[in-house]
Parts: sequence; C-alpha cells; structure tokens
Amino acid sequence: MRAGEVSRVGVVGAGTMGSGIAHVFALVGIDIRLVDVDPEALARARASIEGNLARQALRDRISAEEAAMALERIATERSLAALADTEVVVEAASEEPALKFRLFEELSAVVGPETLLASNTSSISITRIAAHAADPGRVIGMHFMNPVPVMRLVEVIRGLETSDDAADLTLSLCARLSKTAVLANDYPGFVANRILMPMINEAVYCLMEGVAEAEAVDTVMKLGMNHPMGPLALADLIGLDTCLAIMRVLHAEIGDSKYRPCPLLAKYVAAGRLGRKTGRGFYDYSAA
Ligand code: NAD
Repeated sequence: MRAGEVSRVGVVGAGTMGSGIAHVFALVGIDIRLVDVDPEALARARASIEGNLARQALRDRISAEEAAMALERIATERSLAALADTEVVVEAASEEPALKFRLFEELSAVVGPETLLASNTSSISITRIAAHAADPGRVIGMHFMNPVPVMRLVEVIRGLETSDDAADLTLSLCARLSKTAVLANDYPGFVANRILMPMINEAVYCLMEGVAEAEAVDTVMKLGMNHPMGPLALADLIGLDTCLAIMRVLHAEIGDSKYRPCPLLAKYVAAGRLGRKTGRGFYDYSAA
C-alpha cells in the first residue's frame, strides 16, 4: 500500500501524544478512530485538538474550514474493535511494556492482515513489541516528538523483523504529514533518547556535584551551545519520572555504567518533584 491510499488510521491512547498524532493525520484528510479506555482522556483529547486547530487557524497556518473538517474526521472510541477497517494503527498508550505487548496481541486479532502497526514508544524495544504481534514484519516504531503538530521530526525505528514494505509505507506516511523522517535501528533509546537523556543526566550530575547552579548549567547550554532550552528546564518539561525511566532502560539494556541514572534525579522523583506537571522540579513553577 502507498501512503496516498491510506484513508483510515487508528490511534490507541488519547493522551498528550495520541491527540497530537490524531490531529496531524486528520489535517491531511485521513479519517481517525481515536481509542482510549478512559472516557475523560477522550473528552480532554477532543477539547485539546479543537483548541490547537483553532490556534493554527488564528495564526493563518490553516483555514477555519480545514480546522473544522479535521475535527469532524476524528471519531473517539472506547474499544479496539473500532479499528477493524483501519489501514494503519499508531499505538500511543502509556509507556508500560506489558500494556503494549497486550495491545499488539489484541490489535493483531482485530485488524486486517495488511494493516501497519506502529508504536510511538520512547524506549521500549520495537523487536520485543513486534514479537507479540501476529506478523512482526508489519510492526514498526513511529516516534513522534512533543508537541506533535509543531515538531517536524519522526524517528522511524525498524525492529529486527520489520519488512521493507512496512518501512517504506511509514516513511511515505511521514512525508504525507510533512514530517522529516529519520530511520533508526532498534537499540535502547533509539537515537533521540540515547543522546538526549545522557546529556540531561550529566547536567543533573553537574548540579549534584556543585559544578554550577541549575540556572548556570542551563545558561551555558543555551548561550554556549545554542540550545533553545537548557537541559534542566527541558527535563522539567519532559517530566523527571520519564527521564529517570528512560535512563533505567538505557542502563539495564546496554549495561554500561555510563548510563547510570544520577542519584539526584532519582531523589527528586522519589520526593514527587517531577517537573512542570507537579509544579516543581529543578525549578519552581508554583507561581506560574
Ligand atoms: P499519556 O499518559 O498522556 O497518555 C497515555 C494514554 O493511554 C492515556 O490517556 C491512557 O488512558 C491510555 N491508555 C492506557 N491503557 C490503554 C489501553 N489499554 N487502551 C487504550 N488507551 C490506553 O502519555 P503520552 O505522553 O501521550 O505517551 C504515550 C506514548 O508516547 C508513550 O509510549 C510515550 O513513551 C510516548 N512518547 C511520549 C512523548 C512525550 O513527550 N510525552 C514523546 C514521544 C513519545
């Protein structure tokens, strides 16, 4: 199948990423079935997609008519059964291995034999996920960046058994979404998190060892390296629990001590200082 022929896409998980993924597919004229077990997540997703489309229309990136049509193309569903006639499914449910393994078993039983099954996982092995699907050749990683409508990159990850057809279709789908796809093989953290997370972890070591204060660490990376955001502020945005979980995957699966999570990162997570989402991480957001 070619990307231009895809007309129905299923998105599993209607959180931050699933709603963004539904948004960008709907904008290029594809009908979406957005599935979540939590009805409140579905309601929040619809409201956030509507708000984000309206903002794009306000900035003249799309017309008001395009925004309205995209929203109309998104159906919210509670069951995977609604995905029976989809040509592509992008799984963006919570980052829990057992959940993803079960979802790929269930999806294999629901969709047709040609349907491409993509996962948006940040750190779970695509090869392991694929082993739970009926046909591992049709399983691939499609790692969108947050916020999906804004960020141009999609990291496309081939599992050990991913077929050339599945990779070609995924790359051409990214082009249809006007995203730049980068192909990577399946190793822990892929490319994005293999490089980003150790940098963040090292920034936390700098803070822990008293090399410099948080603001100083971030200022060096912003003004010295031209990063739009310092690593500690970025960690607060991503969520310190997510950063710690990814470092643990890198450490466990690669087995090199250079990936050991910084004790200060683990301490902040234990204290519930998870970053922006809890109002406090390396910085204090309580007044914001
Ligand atoms: P989130 O917590 O915002 O959303 C996850 C959603 O999955 C929730 O609404 C939850 O109800 C739903 N869910 C749980 N079990 C389900 C099931 N059985 N069926 C259907 N839905 C189910 O998480 P998120 O930040 O959107 O992350 C989703 C995925 O995307 C994860 O794999 C994550 O690693 C990856 N990712 C996240 C980011 C990010 O910056 N947040 C970036 C890239 C990739």
